[in-house]
Amino acid sequence: MPNSYDWIEKSLQTIHQASWYRSVQSLEGSNGSVITLSGQYFINFASNDYLGLAGDERLKAAAIAAIREYGTGSTGSRLVTGHREIHRDLEIALAKLKGSEDALVFSSGYLANLGTITALVGSRDIILADKYNHSSLKNGAQLSGATILEYPHNDWLSLKTLLELHRRSYRRCLLLSDSVFSMDGDLCPLPELLNLTQEFDCMLLIDEAHATGVMGTTGAGCLEYWGCTGREIIQVGTLSKALGSLGGYVAGSALLIDYLRNRSATWIYTTGLSPGDTAAALEAVKILQSTPGHHENLWQNVAYLRERLNIKLESPIFPLVVENAPKAIELAKKLKEAGIFAPAIRPPTVPTSRIRISLMATHQREHLERLLTVLEL
Ligand code: PMP
Repeated sequence: MPNSYDWIEKSLQTIHQASWYRSVQSLEGSNGSVITLSGQYFINFASNDYLGLAGDERLKAAAIAAIREYGTGSTGSRLVTGHREIHRDLEIALAKLKGSEDALVFSSGYLANLGTITALVGSRDIILADKYNHSSLKNGAQLSGATILEYPHNDWLSLKTLLELHRRSYRRCLLLSDSVFSMDGDLCPLPELLNLTQEFDCMLLIDEAHATGVMGTTGAGCLEYWGCTGREIIQVGTLSKALGSLGGYVAGSALLIDYLRNRSATWIYTTGLSPGDTAAALEAVKILQSTPGHHENLWQNVAYLRERLNIKLESPIFPLVVENAPKAIELAKKLKEAGIFAPAIRPPTVPTSRIRISLMATHQREHLERLLTVLEL
């Protein structure tokens, strides 16, 4: 009798043969720029905890206090079971940070992208998307049923040509781009994308997952960085990277947020963010807003690496591209043997294999020196 599940083992073998196999490593102790794996210390270049807030005592205390007051779970959809004051407080704080009229908090950034894209466009519409966009933007686009055209990475002239050719044949048009690209660390050409939205009557959604708390003088993100604050745009982000918690959000006009509360399936039909995660994220936003220069150390670290390597580094993400997947695994192993934790990122996540180095505000100069020595750079 053939077993209907036999294909899974074969599929896994193929993944192994391509050196694409992935597994999880268990960390011990608290988060930080130095972590413990099997009792051994490693300098951590793998985390998206850019500001070091995921192990911050103030966030821990806020989460514990919220759990004491409200309990651990949110028990159901916010529309059905109600929500806590801190859910709304967090949305108001995020809207203020992002310079938007309102915001809506989702249970993850991934869900925020899926739920927003599918609520905005359908089968009569077109999506134009950067080829290097994050998986959540790509999957959101697929789920929406809209026609999808990808343009070459950051090539807004090609995007313009596609708009000239296709825009008129569709009802609505949505442009999708990461603002800081998660695996390459470069920035989207936001001013040019905004100009195209006006010329071709398009909506623009940018994914600020790696920008919030990091980019711009107050950490508001890429709109602030590019001097575009207040422009009509949909900003999606996560609470899980610089904000040190878990969850996602959409920031935009009050009308958009009201519409999403009524039409976004991944918000309506899922349990609200837990009180602990909500309170930790709220505390992080408060810290950002009450501490000017909160990301100064982070940018000093970026500047140091930029100068030492003489590279164009636009964000704390430094991709070290290598020939192929086995080479990436080999280099990650070499780094680990030297006490450095940095992941090998391989297809299908990215087209070219690499080590993804991610800098934190809490990295010390000696951590960066060690990295450069081991990499022989
Ligand atoms: N967008 C981008 C660009 C990301 O890098 C990520 C997380 N890897 C997400 C969205 C999803 O965010 P979350 O982890 O909150 O689901």
